[in-house]
Amino acid sequence: MEMAKVLVAAPLHEKAMEVLRKAGFDVIYEEYPDEERLVELVKDVDAIIVRSKPKVTRRVIESAPKLKVIGRAGVGLDNIDLEAAKERGIKVVNSPGASSRSVAELAIALMFSVARKVAFADRKMREGVWAKKQCMGIELEGKTIGVIGFGRIGYEVAKIAHALGMKVLLYDPYPNEEMAKEVGGKFAQLEELLRESDVVTLHVPLVEQTYHLINEERLKLMKPTAILINAARGAVVDTSALVKALQEGWIAGAGLDVFEEEPLPKDHPLTKLDNVVLTPHIGASTEEAQMRAGVQVAEQIVEILKG
Ligand code: NAD
Repeated sequence: MEMAKVLVAAPLHEKAMEVLRKAGFDVIYEEYPDEERLVELVKDVDAIIVRSKPKVTRRVIESAPKLKVIGRAGVGLDNIDLEAAKERGIKVVNSPGASSRSVAELAIALMFSVARKVAFADRKMREGVWAKKQCMGIELEGKTIGVIGFGRIGYEVAKIAHALGMKVLLYDPYPNEEMAKEVGGKFAQLEELLRESDVVTLHVPLVEQTYHLINEERLKLMKPTAILINAARGAVVDTSALVKALQEGWIAGAGLDVFEEEPLPKDHPLTKLDNVVLTPHIGASTEEAQMRAGVQVAEQIVEILKG
């Protein structure tokens, strides 16, 4: 039998490469080829693996007569023309749960960083300023965290928050009571959650109903001492309203990993605010998440090509 050929078109964890090689595939690797180059590369491949890049367009798919499966190491599938794949009966596989714990741990890291002004203090230290007085913080034990979107990541966040001794409020249109029980969580209406939480953390997908879910009106419902964490998608929050809220003290601070515009423009108003902690969309950027994402996709490809 002819050896199946797999094109890995984005950096993939070594363990995932091993899974492919052990399966006896002919593995070719090229980092982020552009469309022209992809069209050449896919001519005789059975599978392609990508991450959020490169784009697998209709033209690429139509140039790959042997293609049976497209693997996305990670979650979003917006760089793959799903319609074109479907028409040809090409399977598309990904690894949705691979980074949940990592994103959750980053949300918690942002929460602590804002609560104890860690990033601000560090900036001041580097400027030679001993900003002890400006660094009064709050404890998290006994405080209430409101988790908006109780799915894979929201569950992990709630689990850690519960272990920290925080009270857990949850909001999700599809409440899973059993999972809520595990994390000592209680479902609430969105408005109630916003009013009662000391920390509000977002873990919803970006869909029509969640676009600007956190807007001016809802920011005004939050406590002036509250912290907002967004490690979901930038557009879940109305950024202009958030900047206003932070400038005018409607809320106390924010920890943000995602932005309406990425990369965040250099002189964006958010970068001028001391009560904000910013990270460049690194929720899934851990050794473990990348390994899991790669291996899960590689294993599915082995199953499909050999099955
Ligand atoms: P998931 O599908 O497991 O959970 C999402 C939850 O949100 C579900 O329980 C769903 O019912 C709920 N939901 C849907 N619409 C809602 C609404 N209008 N209000 C409240 N809840 C609603 O997804 P997940 O794996 O937990 O990921 C959540 C989001 O995190 C992803 O969609 C993605 O945008 C983001 N994410 C960010 C990073 C990062 O690097 N920062 C990495 C991975 C995922």
